Amino acid sequence: CGVFGVFNHPKAADLTYYGLHALQHRGQESAGIVASDGKAFRHHRGMGLVTQVFSRDTLDKLVGNMAIGHVRYSTSGQSLLENAQPLVFKYSEGGLAVAHNGNLVNARVERDVLQQQGSIFQTTTDTEIIAHLIARSSKKHFDKAAPDILNRIDGSFALLIMTEKQMLIALDRHGLRPLSLGRIGDAIVAASETCALNAIDATFWRDVEPGEWLLIDEHGMKTGRFAPKSEKSLCSFEFVYFARADSIIHGRSVLTIRKELGQILAKEHPVQADVVVAVPDSSIPAAIGYAQESGIPYEVGLIKNPYVGRSFIEPTQELRELAVRLKLSTVEEILTGKNVVLVDDSIVRGTTSKRIVQLLRQAGAKEVHVRISSPMVKNPCFYGVDMPTKEELFANRHEKEHEMGKAIGADSLAFLSTEGLLKAVDVNLAETSNRCIACFSGAYPTKLYLN
Ligand code: 5GP
Ligand code: SF4
Ligand code: MG
Repeated sequence: CGVFGVFNHPKAADLTYYGLHALQHRGQESAGIVASDGKAFRHHRGMGLVTQVFSRDTLDKLVGNMAIGHVRYSTSGQSLLENAQPLVFKYSEGGLAVAHNGNLVNARVERDVLQQQGSIFQTTTDTEIIAHLIARSSKKHFDKAAPDILNRIDGSFALLIMTEKQMLIALDRHGLRPLSLGRIGDAIVAASETCALNAIDATFWRDVEPGEWLLIDEHGMKTGRFAPKSEKSLCSFEFVYFARADSIIHGRSVLTIRKELGQILAKEHPVQADVVVAVPDSSIPAAIGYAQESGIPYEVGLIKNPYVGRSFIEPTQELRELAVRLKLSTVEEILTGKNVVLVDDSIVRGTTSKRIVQLLRQAGAKEVHVRISSPMVKNPCFYGVDMPTKEELFANRHEKEHEMGKAIGADSLAFLSTEGLLKAVDVNLAETSNRCIACFSGAYPTKLYLN
């Protein structure tokens, strides 16, 4: 998911609309904005893309100088309008709106406790728990209650919460998801990625620290911590696939890291070939890196229909398979009679790669060597990236790389090593704990509360 918020700007909802539009790659199922004029909320949510959900008319109704917004990609809770965020609740004398990117690992435990205490839940999302905790806090006022409950939730959360007058920005203690702050005029902006700050011409201020909260109201800004400054486990998949290439996360350019992943991949798994072809769009930087390192020319052998969303985001398997077909087409001039290195950023279920190798062969490619710019995904993600069960993961259904290669119909298949991934995404190799690599390694940075 993606979150975006603005405090103290006369066009808060409009800016949020543009910000969400720049974060569209983080979720395409639903979008929503809640705005406040200091007295009351006005909100609008819907299923689909940002441009489908909002019109000039609906935006004009979202008056006020503060707003938060959300684009959703469901990993917990169903794909339904009532789960579309920001969620809005009655609170104290007014309302409470919550926009959450991430996934709470102790959601079931906390939900059970709250239900026993009499809470009635409106949605199937883990996010609603946050609102109930705030409402049930022994602290009467939002500015005390909201920071106070952050210790009760565990997992990943980049959070924007607001009342009619106040906004809270918070990031989980591990910093699993990115969350950046910017400024535009006198306004403060919070966004999942810096590409959304650029979209509204805000200047980057700083990243939110893991375990930090910020509370903004008419009196100014307060900051504090609900967890000590120590553990950092930013999701390395943000660098591999999820984030937009023009974003900067923790001071590192996503594009540069993707190119490095491709360069290291070329060193680890060289192959004799005529062309390097990327699976657009997310793999293009890694393919360029592979081409630069290997000296094999980069060519555009696959074209993506820009009007089809990320295939992975479709919630059912049937839709997913059809989407791959609709999404990509081949350029025969580049592929016929050629030995091709096909670079992709990840294999999760394996359906995408299999289908693309077939497409390349139909277009006349002689040999297809698949190179993946991340290690094998062997473990599910519990922190908000949609992955199937352990058994459904491609890497767990096959023993060896060459068997996997056969399964997708490739002449060869190779993955980046975990060391290679860490070399590119880590600030400091000696201290690998500053990135989450759990889906590759199985070492989760939090408790999982599985039973
Ligand atoms: P699969 O192997 O499951 O068919 O899909 C892997 C492909 O899906 C890669 O090309 C990757 O770029 C793309 N992809 C799209 N969305 C996601 C996502 O949310 N998670 C992962 N891991 N890959 C995704
Ligand atoms: Fe990211 Fe993988 Fe960790 Fe999930 S398990 S947060 S996808 S690195
Ligand atoms: Mg891809």
